[in-house]
Amino acid sequence: MQLAKIVRTIAPVLVLAGCAHSEYDPYHDSGIFWVKDAAEYQAVSMQIYAQATADIATFVADSSWSAMPDQAVDPLLPPAIILDIDQTMLNGAEFQLIYERPYSNEKRDAWGREHAATAVPGAVEFVKAARAAGVETFFVTNRPCEKRAGNPDPCPQFQTAVDDLREIGIEVNTDQVSLSGQQSDWDREKLVRRKLIAESYRVIMLVGDDLSDFVPCARTKVMATCETPTTAESRNAAMRKYQHYWGHGWYILPNPMHGSWTSVL
Ligand SMILES: [Mg+2]
Repeated sequence: MQLAKIVRTIAPVLVLAGCAHSEYDPYHDSGIFWVKDAAEYQAVSMQIYAQATADIATFVADSSWSAMPDQAVDPLLPPAIILDIDQTMLNGAEFQLIYERPYSNEKRDAWGREHAATAVPGAVEFVKAARAAGVETFFVTNRPCEKRAGNPDPCPQFQTAVDDLREIGIEVNTDQVSLSGQQSDWDREKLVRRKLIAESYRVIMLVGDDLSDFVPCARTKVMATCETPTTAESRNAAMRKYQHYWGHGWYILPNPMHGSWTSVL
């Protein structure tokens, strides 16, 4: 009897404690703090960009080289590099820590407008080195276009992205930045925009923090050329299929905070 009474007394407390522990708390997310504060994160980023910088001359000189699989190479096309923006050029760890859950694109865009952007270590120097070598740079982001109340601009987030890059020292022409939804066929499957750039440029490098910055069909949501939802196995298979590109034309930055990898957990 005594034991049953104790169990009845503490059971609700245990349930409540369990609920409290299962609630996500960004201040206990070591991934966010690693990106925000760790010297190791900075070192890894600098290491990746140092490798990419060292490879520029080789890929510019080799007119038969392309970082776009299954793409016919036109040696007469000028060289270009395609980069992602968030966690590739810009470090958003501070936002990940403080934004009020749940996430919304509007919160991310508002934060970008109100806070100075922070560069991923090595990113700005890499872009400047590429441009100095005569390589065009394109920034392909999945930040979405969403109208704001009282604003007729169909994509006010475009200017936020341009301003963010400018704040870290990267000036861009308007045709060098593309957002998801900016054109009717530019959805979150970035392959569409990569192929469009590859029609006019020999794409010598891809730089990003997400598998989808390199290969199609990396998300569970079925889009564009993908016919079935992505799985952990299909993502790993795609990663291995193109393993010769990693560190040699493809450069992936670490992001333990968010990404398409979380869609198959
Ligand atoms: Mg990114």
